[in-house]
Amino acid sequence: MSKKIILLGATGSIGVQTADIIREHPEQFTLTGFSAGRNIELAKEFIKEFKPEIVCMQSEQDAGTLRGEFPQTAFVSGNEGLIETAVYDADVLVNAVTGSVGLEPTLEAIKLGRTIAIANKETLVTAGHLVMESAKRYGAAILPVDSEHSALFQSLNGEKIEQATKLILTASGGSFRDSTRADLKNVTVEEALNHPNWSMGAKITIDSATMVNKGLEVIEANVLFNFGYDDIEVLLHRESIIHSMVEFRDTSVMAQLGTPDMRVPIQYALTYPDRLERPNAKRLNLAEIGKLHFQPMDYERFHALQLAFDAGRTGGTMTTVLNAANEQAVAMFLKKEIKFLQIEELIERAMMAHNPIASPDLETILQVDSETRKAVQNMLK
Ligand code: NAD
Ligand code: MG
Repeated sequence: MSKKIILLGATGSIGVQTADIIREHPEQFTLTGFSAGRNIELAKEFIKEFKPEIVCMQSEQDAGTLRGEFPQTAFVSGNEGLIETAVYDADVLVNAVTGSVGLEPTLEAIKLGRTIAIANKETLVTAGHLVMESAKRYGAAILPVDSEHSALFQSLNGEKIEQATKLILTASGGSFRDSTRADLKNVTVEEALNHPNWSMGAKITIDSATMVNKGLEVIEANVLFNFGYDDIEVLLHRESIIHSMVEFRDTSVMAQLGTPDMRVPIQYALTYPDRLERPNAKRLNLAEIGKLHFQPMDYERFHALQLAFDAGRTGGTMTTVLNAANEQAVAMFLKKEIKFLQIEELIERAMMAHNPIASPDLETILQVDSETRKAVQNMLK
């Protein structure tokens, strides 16, 4: 039976690669609906190719244009449309939008017991406890798409999680892994967008350069696998071949390896517990690679990673603040309104100004998120 898939963020880097997987396996998957942000041209191509039942555009104007052109498809728009699309009849929701805008659609789909393949880490950082509690209550599976978390998930497969002692997340180091802090002072947006190993959306590429991405992933690992922050380690591994590892109490370490290709973890989230072939994919050739390198993380050099551990340990709304401050600061950096190192400075200031609230509900989270964004904007004045 073909699995019906709803794909939020279809026009992004993860979205397009998810479409590749669906295209490669037409018997296994049907793209029932998707959201497409502002990219109307790619949305049209996807509608012609996949003939979805529902499509969400960010603007009502774009939705209106498409309504005239494709009478067989239902078009919705905006944040409400994103939720309508998320809860549309399907087997799996792939959440590949960027940012905490993905939170409410995810929570609504969870209420229907739907399987969620989650790339959208901001949702897990801003309100991980709500997502996981609700998933438990409604029996919804949350399957990681992020390569590190897919690796952890695969390394834990068939194991007793209480016998695992440590999660080891690998980090490529991002665009500036060989720069000193002094070098970082005047780096440009273009330089920050040039990632050595992965081609990804702009926001996550900047997050990788600041190391905020690894910080978000540490929190994501805490949320998904319920490991304390003392039992999560980050290891610099420039080749991005080992995607992460789990250490067990007998000192055994399980790792998942592969060429850096996001379609592997995306596909696994769609097929779990099965695996499907990937006929045209490059296979891992360790003899060709020869050597793998590892280094401890330097928390002074990558100060933002320290901030993320601090936010995670504090808990409550502090991770919401970390995420929202970062989203706002990265948007300002991409518009060239601030310098690179100001991203972590603004995050730190937002965290210092915040009085964390324990076990926040959705309303509190949304409020803290929007207040933090405003506060960060005002810091420039
Ligand atoms: P991207 O910028 O390429 O795509 C983001 C998608 O989200 C686009 O389709 C865009 O239209 C949509 N979107 C953004 N803001 C929106 C809004 N306000 N309303 C509705 N839609 C909106 O990003 P990406 O690189 O594909 O990353 C997506 C998510 O996956 C992020 O959370 C990222 O951290 C995570 N992730 C990405 C990669 C990767 O290799 N790209 C790897 C691991 C995790
Ligand atoms: Mg990752």
